[in-house]
Amino acid sequence: KGERLRLPPWLKTEIPIGKNYNKLKSTLRDLNLHTVCEEARCPNIGECWGGGEHGTATATIMLMGDTCTRGCRFCSVKTARRPPPLDPDEPYNTASAIAAWGLDYVVLTSVDRDDIADGGAEHIAKTVSNLKQRNSHILVECLTPDFRGDLVAVETIAQSGLDVYAHNVETVRELQRQVRDPRANFDQSISVLRHAKVVKPDILTKTSIMLGLGESEHQIRNTLIELREAGVDCLTLGQYMQPTKRHLKVEEYVTPERFAHWEQVGKQMGFMYTASGPLVRSSYKAGEFFLKNLLE
Ligand code: SF4
Ligand code: SF4
Repeated sequence: KGERLRLPPWLKTEIPIGKNYNKLKSTLRDLNLHTVCEEARCPNIGECWGGGEHGTATATIMLMGDTCTRGCRFCSVKTARRPPPLDPDEPYNTASAIAAWGLDYVVLTSVDRDDIADGGAEHIAKTVSNLKQRNSHILVECLTPDFRGDLVAVETIAQSGLDVYAHNVETVRELQRQVRDPRANFDQSISVLRHAKVVKPDILTKTSIMLGLGESEHQIRNTLIELREAGVDCLTLGQYMQPTKRHLKVEEYVTPERFAHWEQVGKQMGFMYTASGPLVRSSYKAGEFFLKNLLE
């Protein structure tokens, strides 16, 4: 007890680097964009930025600063009760920079800002509309906070012109309290996802679950059932990795075979898209799938 599990071989493999990677990497420096891909040292960066086989480059951009008002036990983002105020020029400047960068698919995500009345919903929505004005071809996913269940905020985002509304439930219902900040919970997150789809039925909704936190297979299955009942279209499952010693321990390294099993289960349950694997992250190669499917 108390010992850390050893890293299994499937998490040590090198991931290939696609052809756009170097181009995006060298133009990023001048644009003042904060990518989660780089800041979280995401192992998929070569594939996502490189665009994989289909050349559809995906990246995740962080909005509203680097300081969160919450403290989830799996997350290494820094926390403060009152982070610095929002930069009112960010929606415009970030949209211009992304449009100039040459992405096919962008994920706009953010810290939680419980210190702001609308949780930053207007700010995010403005970024989306500015970006779509500049580049109508880019596909935009917003990976949003739960806005403390404020459905007006959810509506603001859903109507902003985005293509994919993502909000992560992070773990099975039973482990919410241990894993997420106490202000988050499963039902609140489900209501966000459900409402986004109700307000704007033609957008896709998406959520992500980390495995390896001690959840049972029965709990995973029930969570997927509840997500489908809320109309969630797309699902990703990936291995939880402990960011520092102060964070929640990994209880299990789920094997690639079990991840493949969950991908099958997702398909059978009727998710439009299920990506499941040890290194899969919520935005993993999103462009490859969504560009193909949304444009058909
Ligand atoms: Fe960036 Fe997400 Fe891809 Fe990682 S999985 S490289 S964070 S877009
Ligand atoms: Fe991290 Fe998001 Fe939790 Fe903030 S709300 S601590 S950014 S996971």
